[in-house]
Amino acid sequence: MKAAVVVLAAPSGGGKTTIARALVTRWPERYGFSVSATTRGPRPGERDGEDYFFLTKDEFRRRQAAGDFLEWAEYAGELYGTLKAEVDRVLAAGRHVLLDIEVQGAKQVRKRYPPPASRAVFILPPSAGELLRRLQGRRTESPSEMRERLETAMRELRQADAFDHVVVNDDLDSAVLTVHKLVETPEGEPGAKVERKRITALIAELTKQTKEIS
Ligand code: ADP
Ligand code: 5GP
Repeated sequence: MKAAVVVLAAPSGGGKTTIARALVTRWPERYGFSVSATTRGPRPGERDGEDYFFLTKDEFRRRQAAGDFLEWAEYAGELYGTLKAEVDRVLAAGRHVLLDIEVQGAKQVRKRYPPPASRAVFILPPSAGELLRRLQGRRTESPSEMRERLETAMRELRQADAFDHVVVNDDLDSAVLTVHKLVETPEGEPGAKVERKRITALIAELTKQTKEIS
């Protein structure tokens, strides 16, 4: 089957990075990861060229002007972008290319690679409480950054309809397998349908919990 552009989006902490890593580890011949560029600083353990290409704002702007990005977006005050060269590198190797990006970028990629060249999967946390536990467990954001990310998460959840598939990341192995099946057999089962009720409940719960973060 032809290699596809696979867009994974999720509210921050939803598990898209974990799922993308698991797909590459489990099926290294089928998947490759597009390493994005960002102006945010590395988190402990993150490595330049592996997790991101960490650029200064000037470098990022220079590469934008040079037309190096397939898409880019601003998120929590920082710039993030998918490099065309990264996508081409993985596709040229005959592998599906995984893009772990936010919703605005996902929409831009969909325009450049209309389905079936791309598949868009929105990853949902099982509940707002679990999303908060995972975000807090990651210990990478201050309370104010966390609040900003949760507000963005709510905006993103309202746009989940723009995606082909919604997958709930409760048990990690099942979520990884579901995404894999959606990518490999797009013409088969439609997979998880947009779970409107679950999304509405998540937004309501998150609104309440975000107010309680001090
Ligand atoms: P995102 O990339 O969407 O911001 P991450 O992949 O960084 O999210 O996941 C956020 C946190 O949740 C990480 O600490 C990760 O280990 C944890 N996590 C992800 N998926 C699961 C899961 N299915 N069960 C338990 N913890 C998970
Ligand atoms: P984080 O700072 O948690 O690594 O990422 C913040 C957000 O930026 C996440 O939603 C992540 O998916 C998104 N992101 C990462 N790389 C890119 C990119 O290249 N383009 C866009 N549009 N978003 C990205």
